[in-house]
Amino acid sequence: MGQPETTVVIRTFNEEKFLPALLAALAKQAYRDYETIVVDSGSLDKTCDIARREADKLLHVQSHDFTFGYSLNVGIRNSSGKFIAIVSAHTLPVDEHWLGRLVEPLRDPSTAMVYGRQMGGRSSKFSEIQDMRRTFGPRPRIMRPPRFFANNANSAIRRDLWLEHPFDESLLGLEDIEWAKYWMERNYQVVYEPEAALYHIHEENWRQVRRRYYREAVAARWIGIKGSKHAVATPLQEATRLVFDWGRFLCSADDRRAGSLRFWQMVGETTRFRANKSIGTIKGLLDGGIMENPNAREEILFDRTCRAVVIHGAGEARLEEIDIPRVKPGDVLIRVAYEAVCATDIEVYEGTLGYYRQGTAKYPIIPGHEFSGRVVDIGPNVNHLKVGHAVVVECIQSCGTCEACQRENWIACNQRVELGVIGRNGGYAEYVAVPGKYVHALPAEFDLLKACLCEPLAVALKGLKRLRRTWRERKAPKKCAVVGAGSLGHLCARVLQLWGHQVTVIDRNPKRLDYLRGSGIEVAENLSGLADFENLVEVTGNPEALDVLLHDSPAGAKILLLGLPYARRQYTFENIVAYDKMIVGSVGSAAKHFDLAIELLPQIDTSCFTEKILPLSDYAQAWQLARSQKYLKVILEIS
Ligand SMILES: [Zn+2]
Ligand SMILES: [Zn+2]
Repeated sequence: MGQPETTVVIRTFNEEKFLPALLAALAKQAYRDYETIVVDSGSLDKTCDIARREADKLLHVQSHDFTFGYSLNVGIRNSSGKFIAIVSAHTLPVDEHWLGRLVEPLRDPSTAMVYGRQMGGRSSKFSEIQDMRRTFGPRPRIMRPPRFFANNANSAIRRDLWLEHPFDESLLGLEDIEWAKYWMERNYQVVYEPEAALYHIHEENWRQVRRRYYREAVAARWIGIKGSKHAVATPLQEATRLVFDWGRFLCSADDRRAGSLRFWQMVGETTRFRANKSIGTIKGLLDGGIMENPNAREEILFDRTCRAVVIHGAGEARLEEIDIPRVKPGDVLIRVAYEAVCATDIEVYEGTLGYYRQGTAKYPIIPGHEFSGRVVDIGPNVNHLKVGHAVVVECIQSCGTCEACQRENWIACNQRVELGVIGRNGGYAEYVAVPGKYVHALPAEFDLLKACLCEPLAVALKGLKRLRRTWRERKAPKKCAVVGAGSLGHLCARVLQLWGHQVTVIDRNPKRLDYLRGSGIEVAENLSGLADFENLVEVTGNPEALDVLLHDSPAGAKILLLGLPYARRQYTFENIVAYDKMIVGSVGSAAKHFDLAIELLPQIDTSCFTEKILPLSDYAQAWQLARSQKYLKVILEIS
């Protein structure tokens, strides 16, 4: 195959949402003589998988090396076309003639660069649609000094000229204008071709809007097309445009996004847009020296934010944009797939959990300790994991160095943190960073939805193993009763059955017992038959149930307590002493229980745990449903 005439270079950072549509639209272009190169700067989502599948080449640049110019130069250095089309990943060509029309003017040897039309998409902000309309009109144009303009969200350049003058790698933005200016000053022309049109989609929050205009203003000042004196004119200009926005809204029906935007909504949105644009621009024009600091540069260039549920105090939870945590040595960054709702999460939210009532735990915290996900980044000194591994994480994370930890008495460690409960943010977030030593890789093909049950299963296993230690003949089948048919009780019953024991589950709620129908596990709705069971597991935490258990269990009974809090009241333990009974308590789990849980989980039917799955944004509803006990588990699907 000969060399393609054109190379399309696409720069990406977390573009899984838009990239597939762009690549599909490229494949439908009437002009066929091209190759595609994706230059990725450390995407954490599926961008690279998509590019590997659909593009001709995928190149990586380190995010701390990134500038727009640098990543374009990397892409063009690896290209073979004599024309280079440059397109932003969050765009969509309007029709199949886009690429052909974009490169056509380059056949004239005096043309250095072409840029095409950009239009707002359905989800674009109203003001931005107007700004694009103003900048990218319907008529073709040849740009002349001092009107230096071009835009690399939709442009094409000649490779021979690029070899002589590559993009400026030190710029935070506007590398396109710098390049256009360089060649215009050398008597080449830059052409605006409105027929090469695409939709340019920004789905930004206000902080991102501010940041983008800040970046552009810093760059504009750097290349000398704007100075600090423009800072004064900016608010006036934006205020004028705001009035035009409103006029346009009132006069043009098709601008109202097919009638979906109401007047007052539009007033609010346009005002905030103009205000944020002004603030970003003014700050950028006044800021000097920012370009020399590589850390600040990375901060400005990348929008490393994600969504998370943050609890700020008792009864105070919000879905927020947070910075994606950075990995420290020993840490891994996980993109959370599923997070199961646990009663503990709700207690953290309500402030009723012991740690919060006593004041040993502090808000704010991101809850969640029952989750599964994939590793997306690995800090130094983590050797047992790779990017892409499906994983689960231990909740109780002891310090590992204190005296108690040395004796493997993890619960006695008073420096321990509990994921999503005390001291460390948990899984109600798109990304979570945790110490690698508490992360367990799952076997290939392990179902991530099922995997979020590893943590509660590990808790069940730890308790049951402690109970098993009290047995003389471990393997001999025993008669066991589990009091409480919630998720933990249900898992305990399944494990005991798997171990070959005869199990009866007791719960007042017949709907919960229904989940056990046909499993071979027996059910009962009251505690009247306890005298038959030498082994009992209490999971409800209910003091009345515990009282009955202590009294009605037979002589020699072994009682495992997994419920909390068994609220303070008087118990008589005379019965325990007089009848040789044994009480075992257990909380949480450790590494070996996770390993065992990962091994056993595939053998357990968990279909009744996955009846209710909600998106992260519906966390409040998920908590309400979990409280209502309508489902065995409520699960949040995060990514
Ligand atoms: Zn839990
Ligand atoms: Zn410790």
